[in-house]
Amino acid sequence: MRSKDESIEQLMTAMASIVPTLSDSGSAAEDIASKIQQLIVSRDLEAGARLPSERDLAQALQTSRPTVSQAIRILVTKGLVESRRGSGAYVTRRPEDGLAASVDLMLELNQSSVQHLADLRLWLETMSITRAIEECLEEEIVECELALQQLRDSAGDTAAWMSADTNFHAAVARASHNPYLASLFESVHATLINYEYRTWIQEETTPRWLRSTEVSAMAALHDPIVAAMRNRDEEAGKVAVLHHHYVMSQHLAAASHP
Ligand SMILES: [Zn+2]
Repeated sequence: MRSKDESIEQLMTAMASIVPTLSDSGSAAEDIASKIQQLIVSRDLEAGARLPSERDLAQALQTSRPTVSQAIRILVTKGLVESRRGSGAYVTRRPEDGLAASVDLMLELNQSSVQHLADLRLWLETMSITRAIEECLEEEIVECELALQQLRDSAGDTAAWMSADTNFHAAVARASHNPYLASLFESVHATLINYEYRTWIQEETTPRWLRSTEVSAMAALHDPIVAAMRNRDEEAGKVAVLHHHYVMSQHLAAASHP
């Protein structure tokens, strides 16, 4: 088995071949994030693989270190990368390209449409939980319970929290057993999270709803979703998803007027 550190040199060679195409429109960090995402796919990096250091990435992609930091934070909100203090950034899972890029672009062109996107997220998650409650296997419930535990364990670590939240909701959507629904849900969710946490992405400022006093209430918001799966209770599942939507909508409103 190849060592993870050894592969970093090969990664750097691969990074160098990804030609930077920074445009004035759109965010440089978004651009760098999608290049790192391409790298994860093209190099077939597995969960647990370490990314090159921010300094090396900045050099390979001919950009600044703060831009790479922002890009890493974008990937964290997408649940693709986990950043460990003092150790660097690690791949958590392979990206599904899906529809994310076009959903991102639509929101960028019309930011006032964010509430429409949040509504779509609610409908997709309601369909997901309904199907999941009918279809999901025991091991998928366990997967969601583990994701929930991860969410609780990440209290106090904003980056870990965001990654765990995306992974939790993605696990519920996958339990619907409809890969298109899961992919569409994940794209919409990732775009909204990216918007909700854009201050954190840009400046690393923790939003007030993720401050330590609020975090346990935020985690508790997810408990009834898993409980409904465990109890095969469709009505409880819909109510839990609606409640999560309501709280998330308040955060999105706060993110529009920080
Ligand atoms: Zn959530």
